[in-house]
Amino acid sequence: MELSSLSIREIHRLITKKEISTQELVERYLKKIEKENPEINAFLEVFKEESIKQAQEIDRKIQKGEEISILEGIPVAIKDNILVADKRCTAGSKILENYIAPYDATVVRKLKEKGAIVVGKTNLDEFAIGSSGEFSAYGATRNPKNLEYVPGGSSSGSAAAVAANMVPVALGSDTGGSVRQPASFCGIIGFKPTYGLVSRFGLIAMSSSLDQIGPLGKNVEDVKIIYEAIKGEDEMDSTTVSFLQKQTKERLEEVKIGIPKEYFARGINPKVKEIIEDRIKDLELSGASIEEVSLPHTDYALATYYIVMTAEVSSNLARYDGIKYGKSLSGSDRVQNLLDVYLETRKEFLGEEVKRRIMLGTYCLSVGYYDAYYLQAQKVRTLIKEDFERAFQKVDFLLTPTSPTPPFKLGERLENPLTMYMADILTASVNLAGLPAISLSAGEVDKLPVGLQLIGPAFSENFLLSIAQLAQRIWT
Ligand code: GLN
Repeated sequence: MELSSLSIREIHRLITKKEISTQELVERYLKKIEKENPEINAFLEVFKEESIKQAQEIDRKIQKGEEISILEGIPVAIKDNILVADKRCTAGSKILENYIAPYDATVVRKLKEKGAIVVGKTNLDEFAIGSSGEFSAYGATRNPKNLEYVPGGSSSGSAAAVAANMVPVALGSDTGGSVRQPASFCGIIGFKPTYGLVSRFGLIAMSSSLDQIGPLGKNVEDVKIIYEAIKGEDEMDSTTVSFLQKQTKERLEEVKIGIPKEYFARGINPKVKEIIEDRIKDLELSGASIEEVSLPHTDYALATYYIVMTAEVSSNLARYDGIKYGKSLSGSDRVQNLLDVYLETRKEFLGEEVKRRIMLGTYCLSVGYYDAYYLQAQKVRTLIKEDFERAFQKVDFLLTPTSPTPPFKLGERLENPLTMYMADILTASVNLAGLPAISLSAGEVDKLPVGLQLIGPAFSENFLLSIAQLAQRIWT
């Protein structure tokens, strides 16, 4: 039995048919983590004993002949900006090094209630800010496909853990692409649901109007099972809804896929483009109709994202001030008064990129610049949303590359923040418009994974996921 080939459904079959005990299965994953993690650095913490104990309980249930649900005994990894009660939650930052989560995030509570085993917390770019996994205060994560390369970010640990078969599925968070882009870089699947379909209660906020928790896995069905377990209205998050569109089409022949021409323009690696075009041909041959569409405000998406996001980052991260949460230099000889506590603590325990975003955001929100930047960006955000709405009057889905390039080498983009920001150019508009999107694996360039993104209208997840399932089957 190869861990690499195990889907949730297959694990469920194996443990209910007693072909393997839950304990044995969990121990195999834990062993894999022990072996691979020192090099990959996907996990910040692993809950070994508790996971085994939980597996033993499930085995007892199975022995007694009790029925178990599909998620019971399934090992899941959680990005370390999502709270797991009584465990450390660092958000990849030094400032939260000693922070113990006082409660479970809603998504974690739901997974636990359904019997999933939370095996550990995964590494991330500090406060989910980054595209490469290199901005974690606890060391960079490496891409399991090639250790010289970045796994993408910011859900770097979750993507690498799944790709290296340390867990079958994991949760990440996606503010501008942080589930889809690392999924693409690691050759797995990452899904960002419509804004509001999954509760953010217990997710350490980066940019509240963009953040969304989403699953990563090795096949569409696994991702769908996790998404269905975590979705739904939550009284602890007033932005949640449980509305979903009905699926009206079942077959690929009925589906119209739009290709936004702006997403294939300059800046796209030609080999990536070629692979995506091959996959488009595959879909066409399988009966889908393909149509070119235009999203005319695409050129402004990244700038708009970087204004809205940094503004919200500066406001959300103001709470890490040496008083309310986490570490503090209060009482040290570097501190003479209250202002020093704020300044010195933040200077010491926040990373460079996080500070850069806070400064940009504070600038955009300050008197005199608010109208010129923040307010303008909000208006352009509406135009971007309207572009999508217009496109979805003509087509059911949009298809694009997930990232303009294959994974890049560790260290390659650290010196130039703008090149790093370009990694989000094809994913960030989806968050601005609050839409659902999934990254599927599309092929490889020089043995490095390339991802393809399917974007759907708001609340179209049932349809989007079933088409994604059909599509992925065509080329794997
Ligand atoms: N890479 C993007 C950024 O740095 C997105 C981050 C995210 O989605 N959490 O802002």
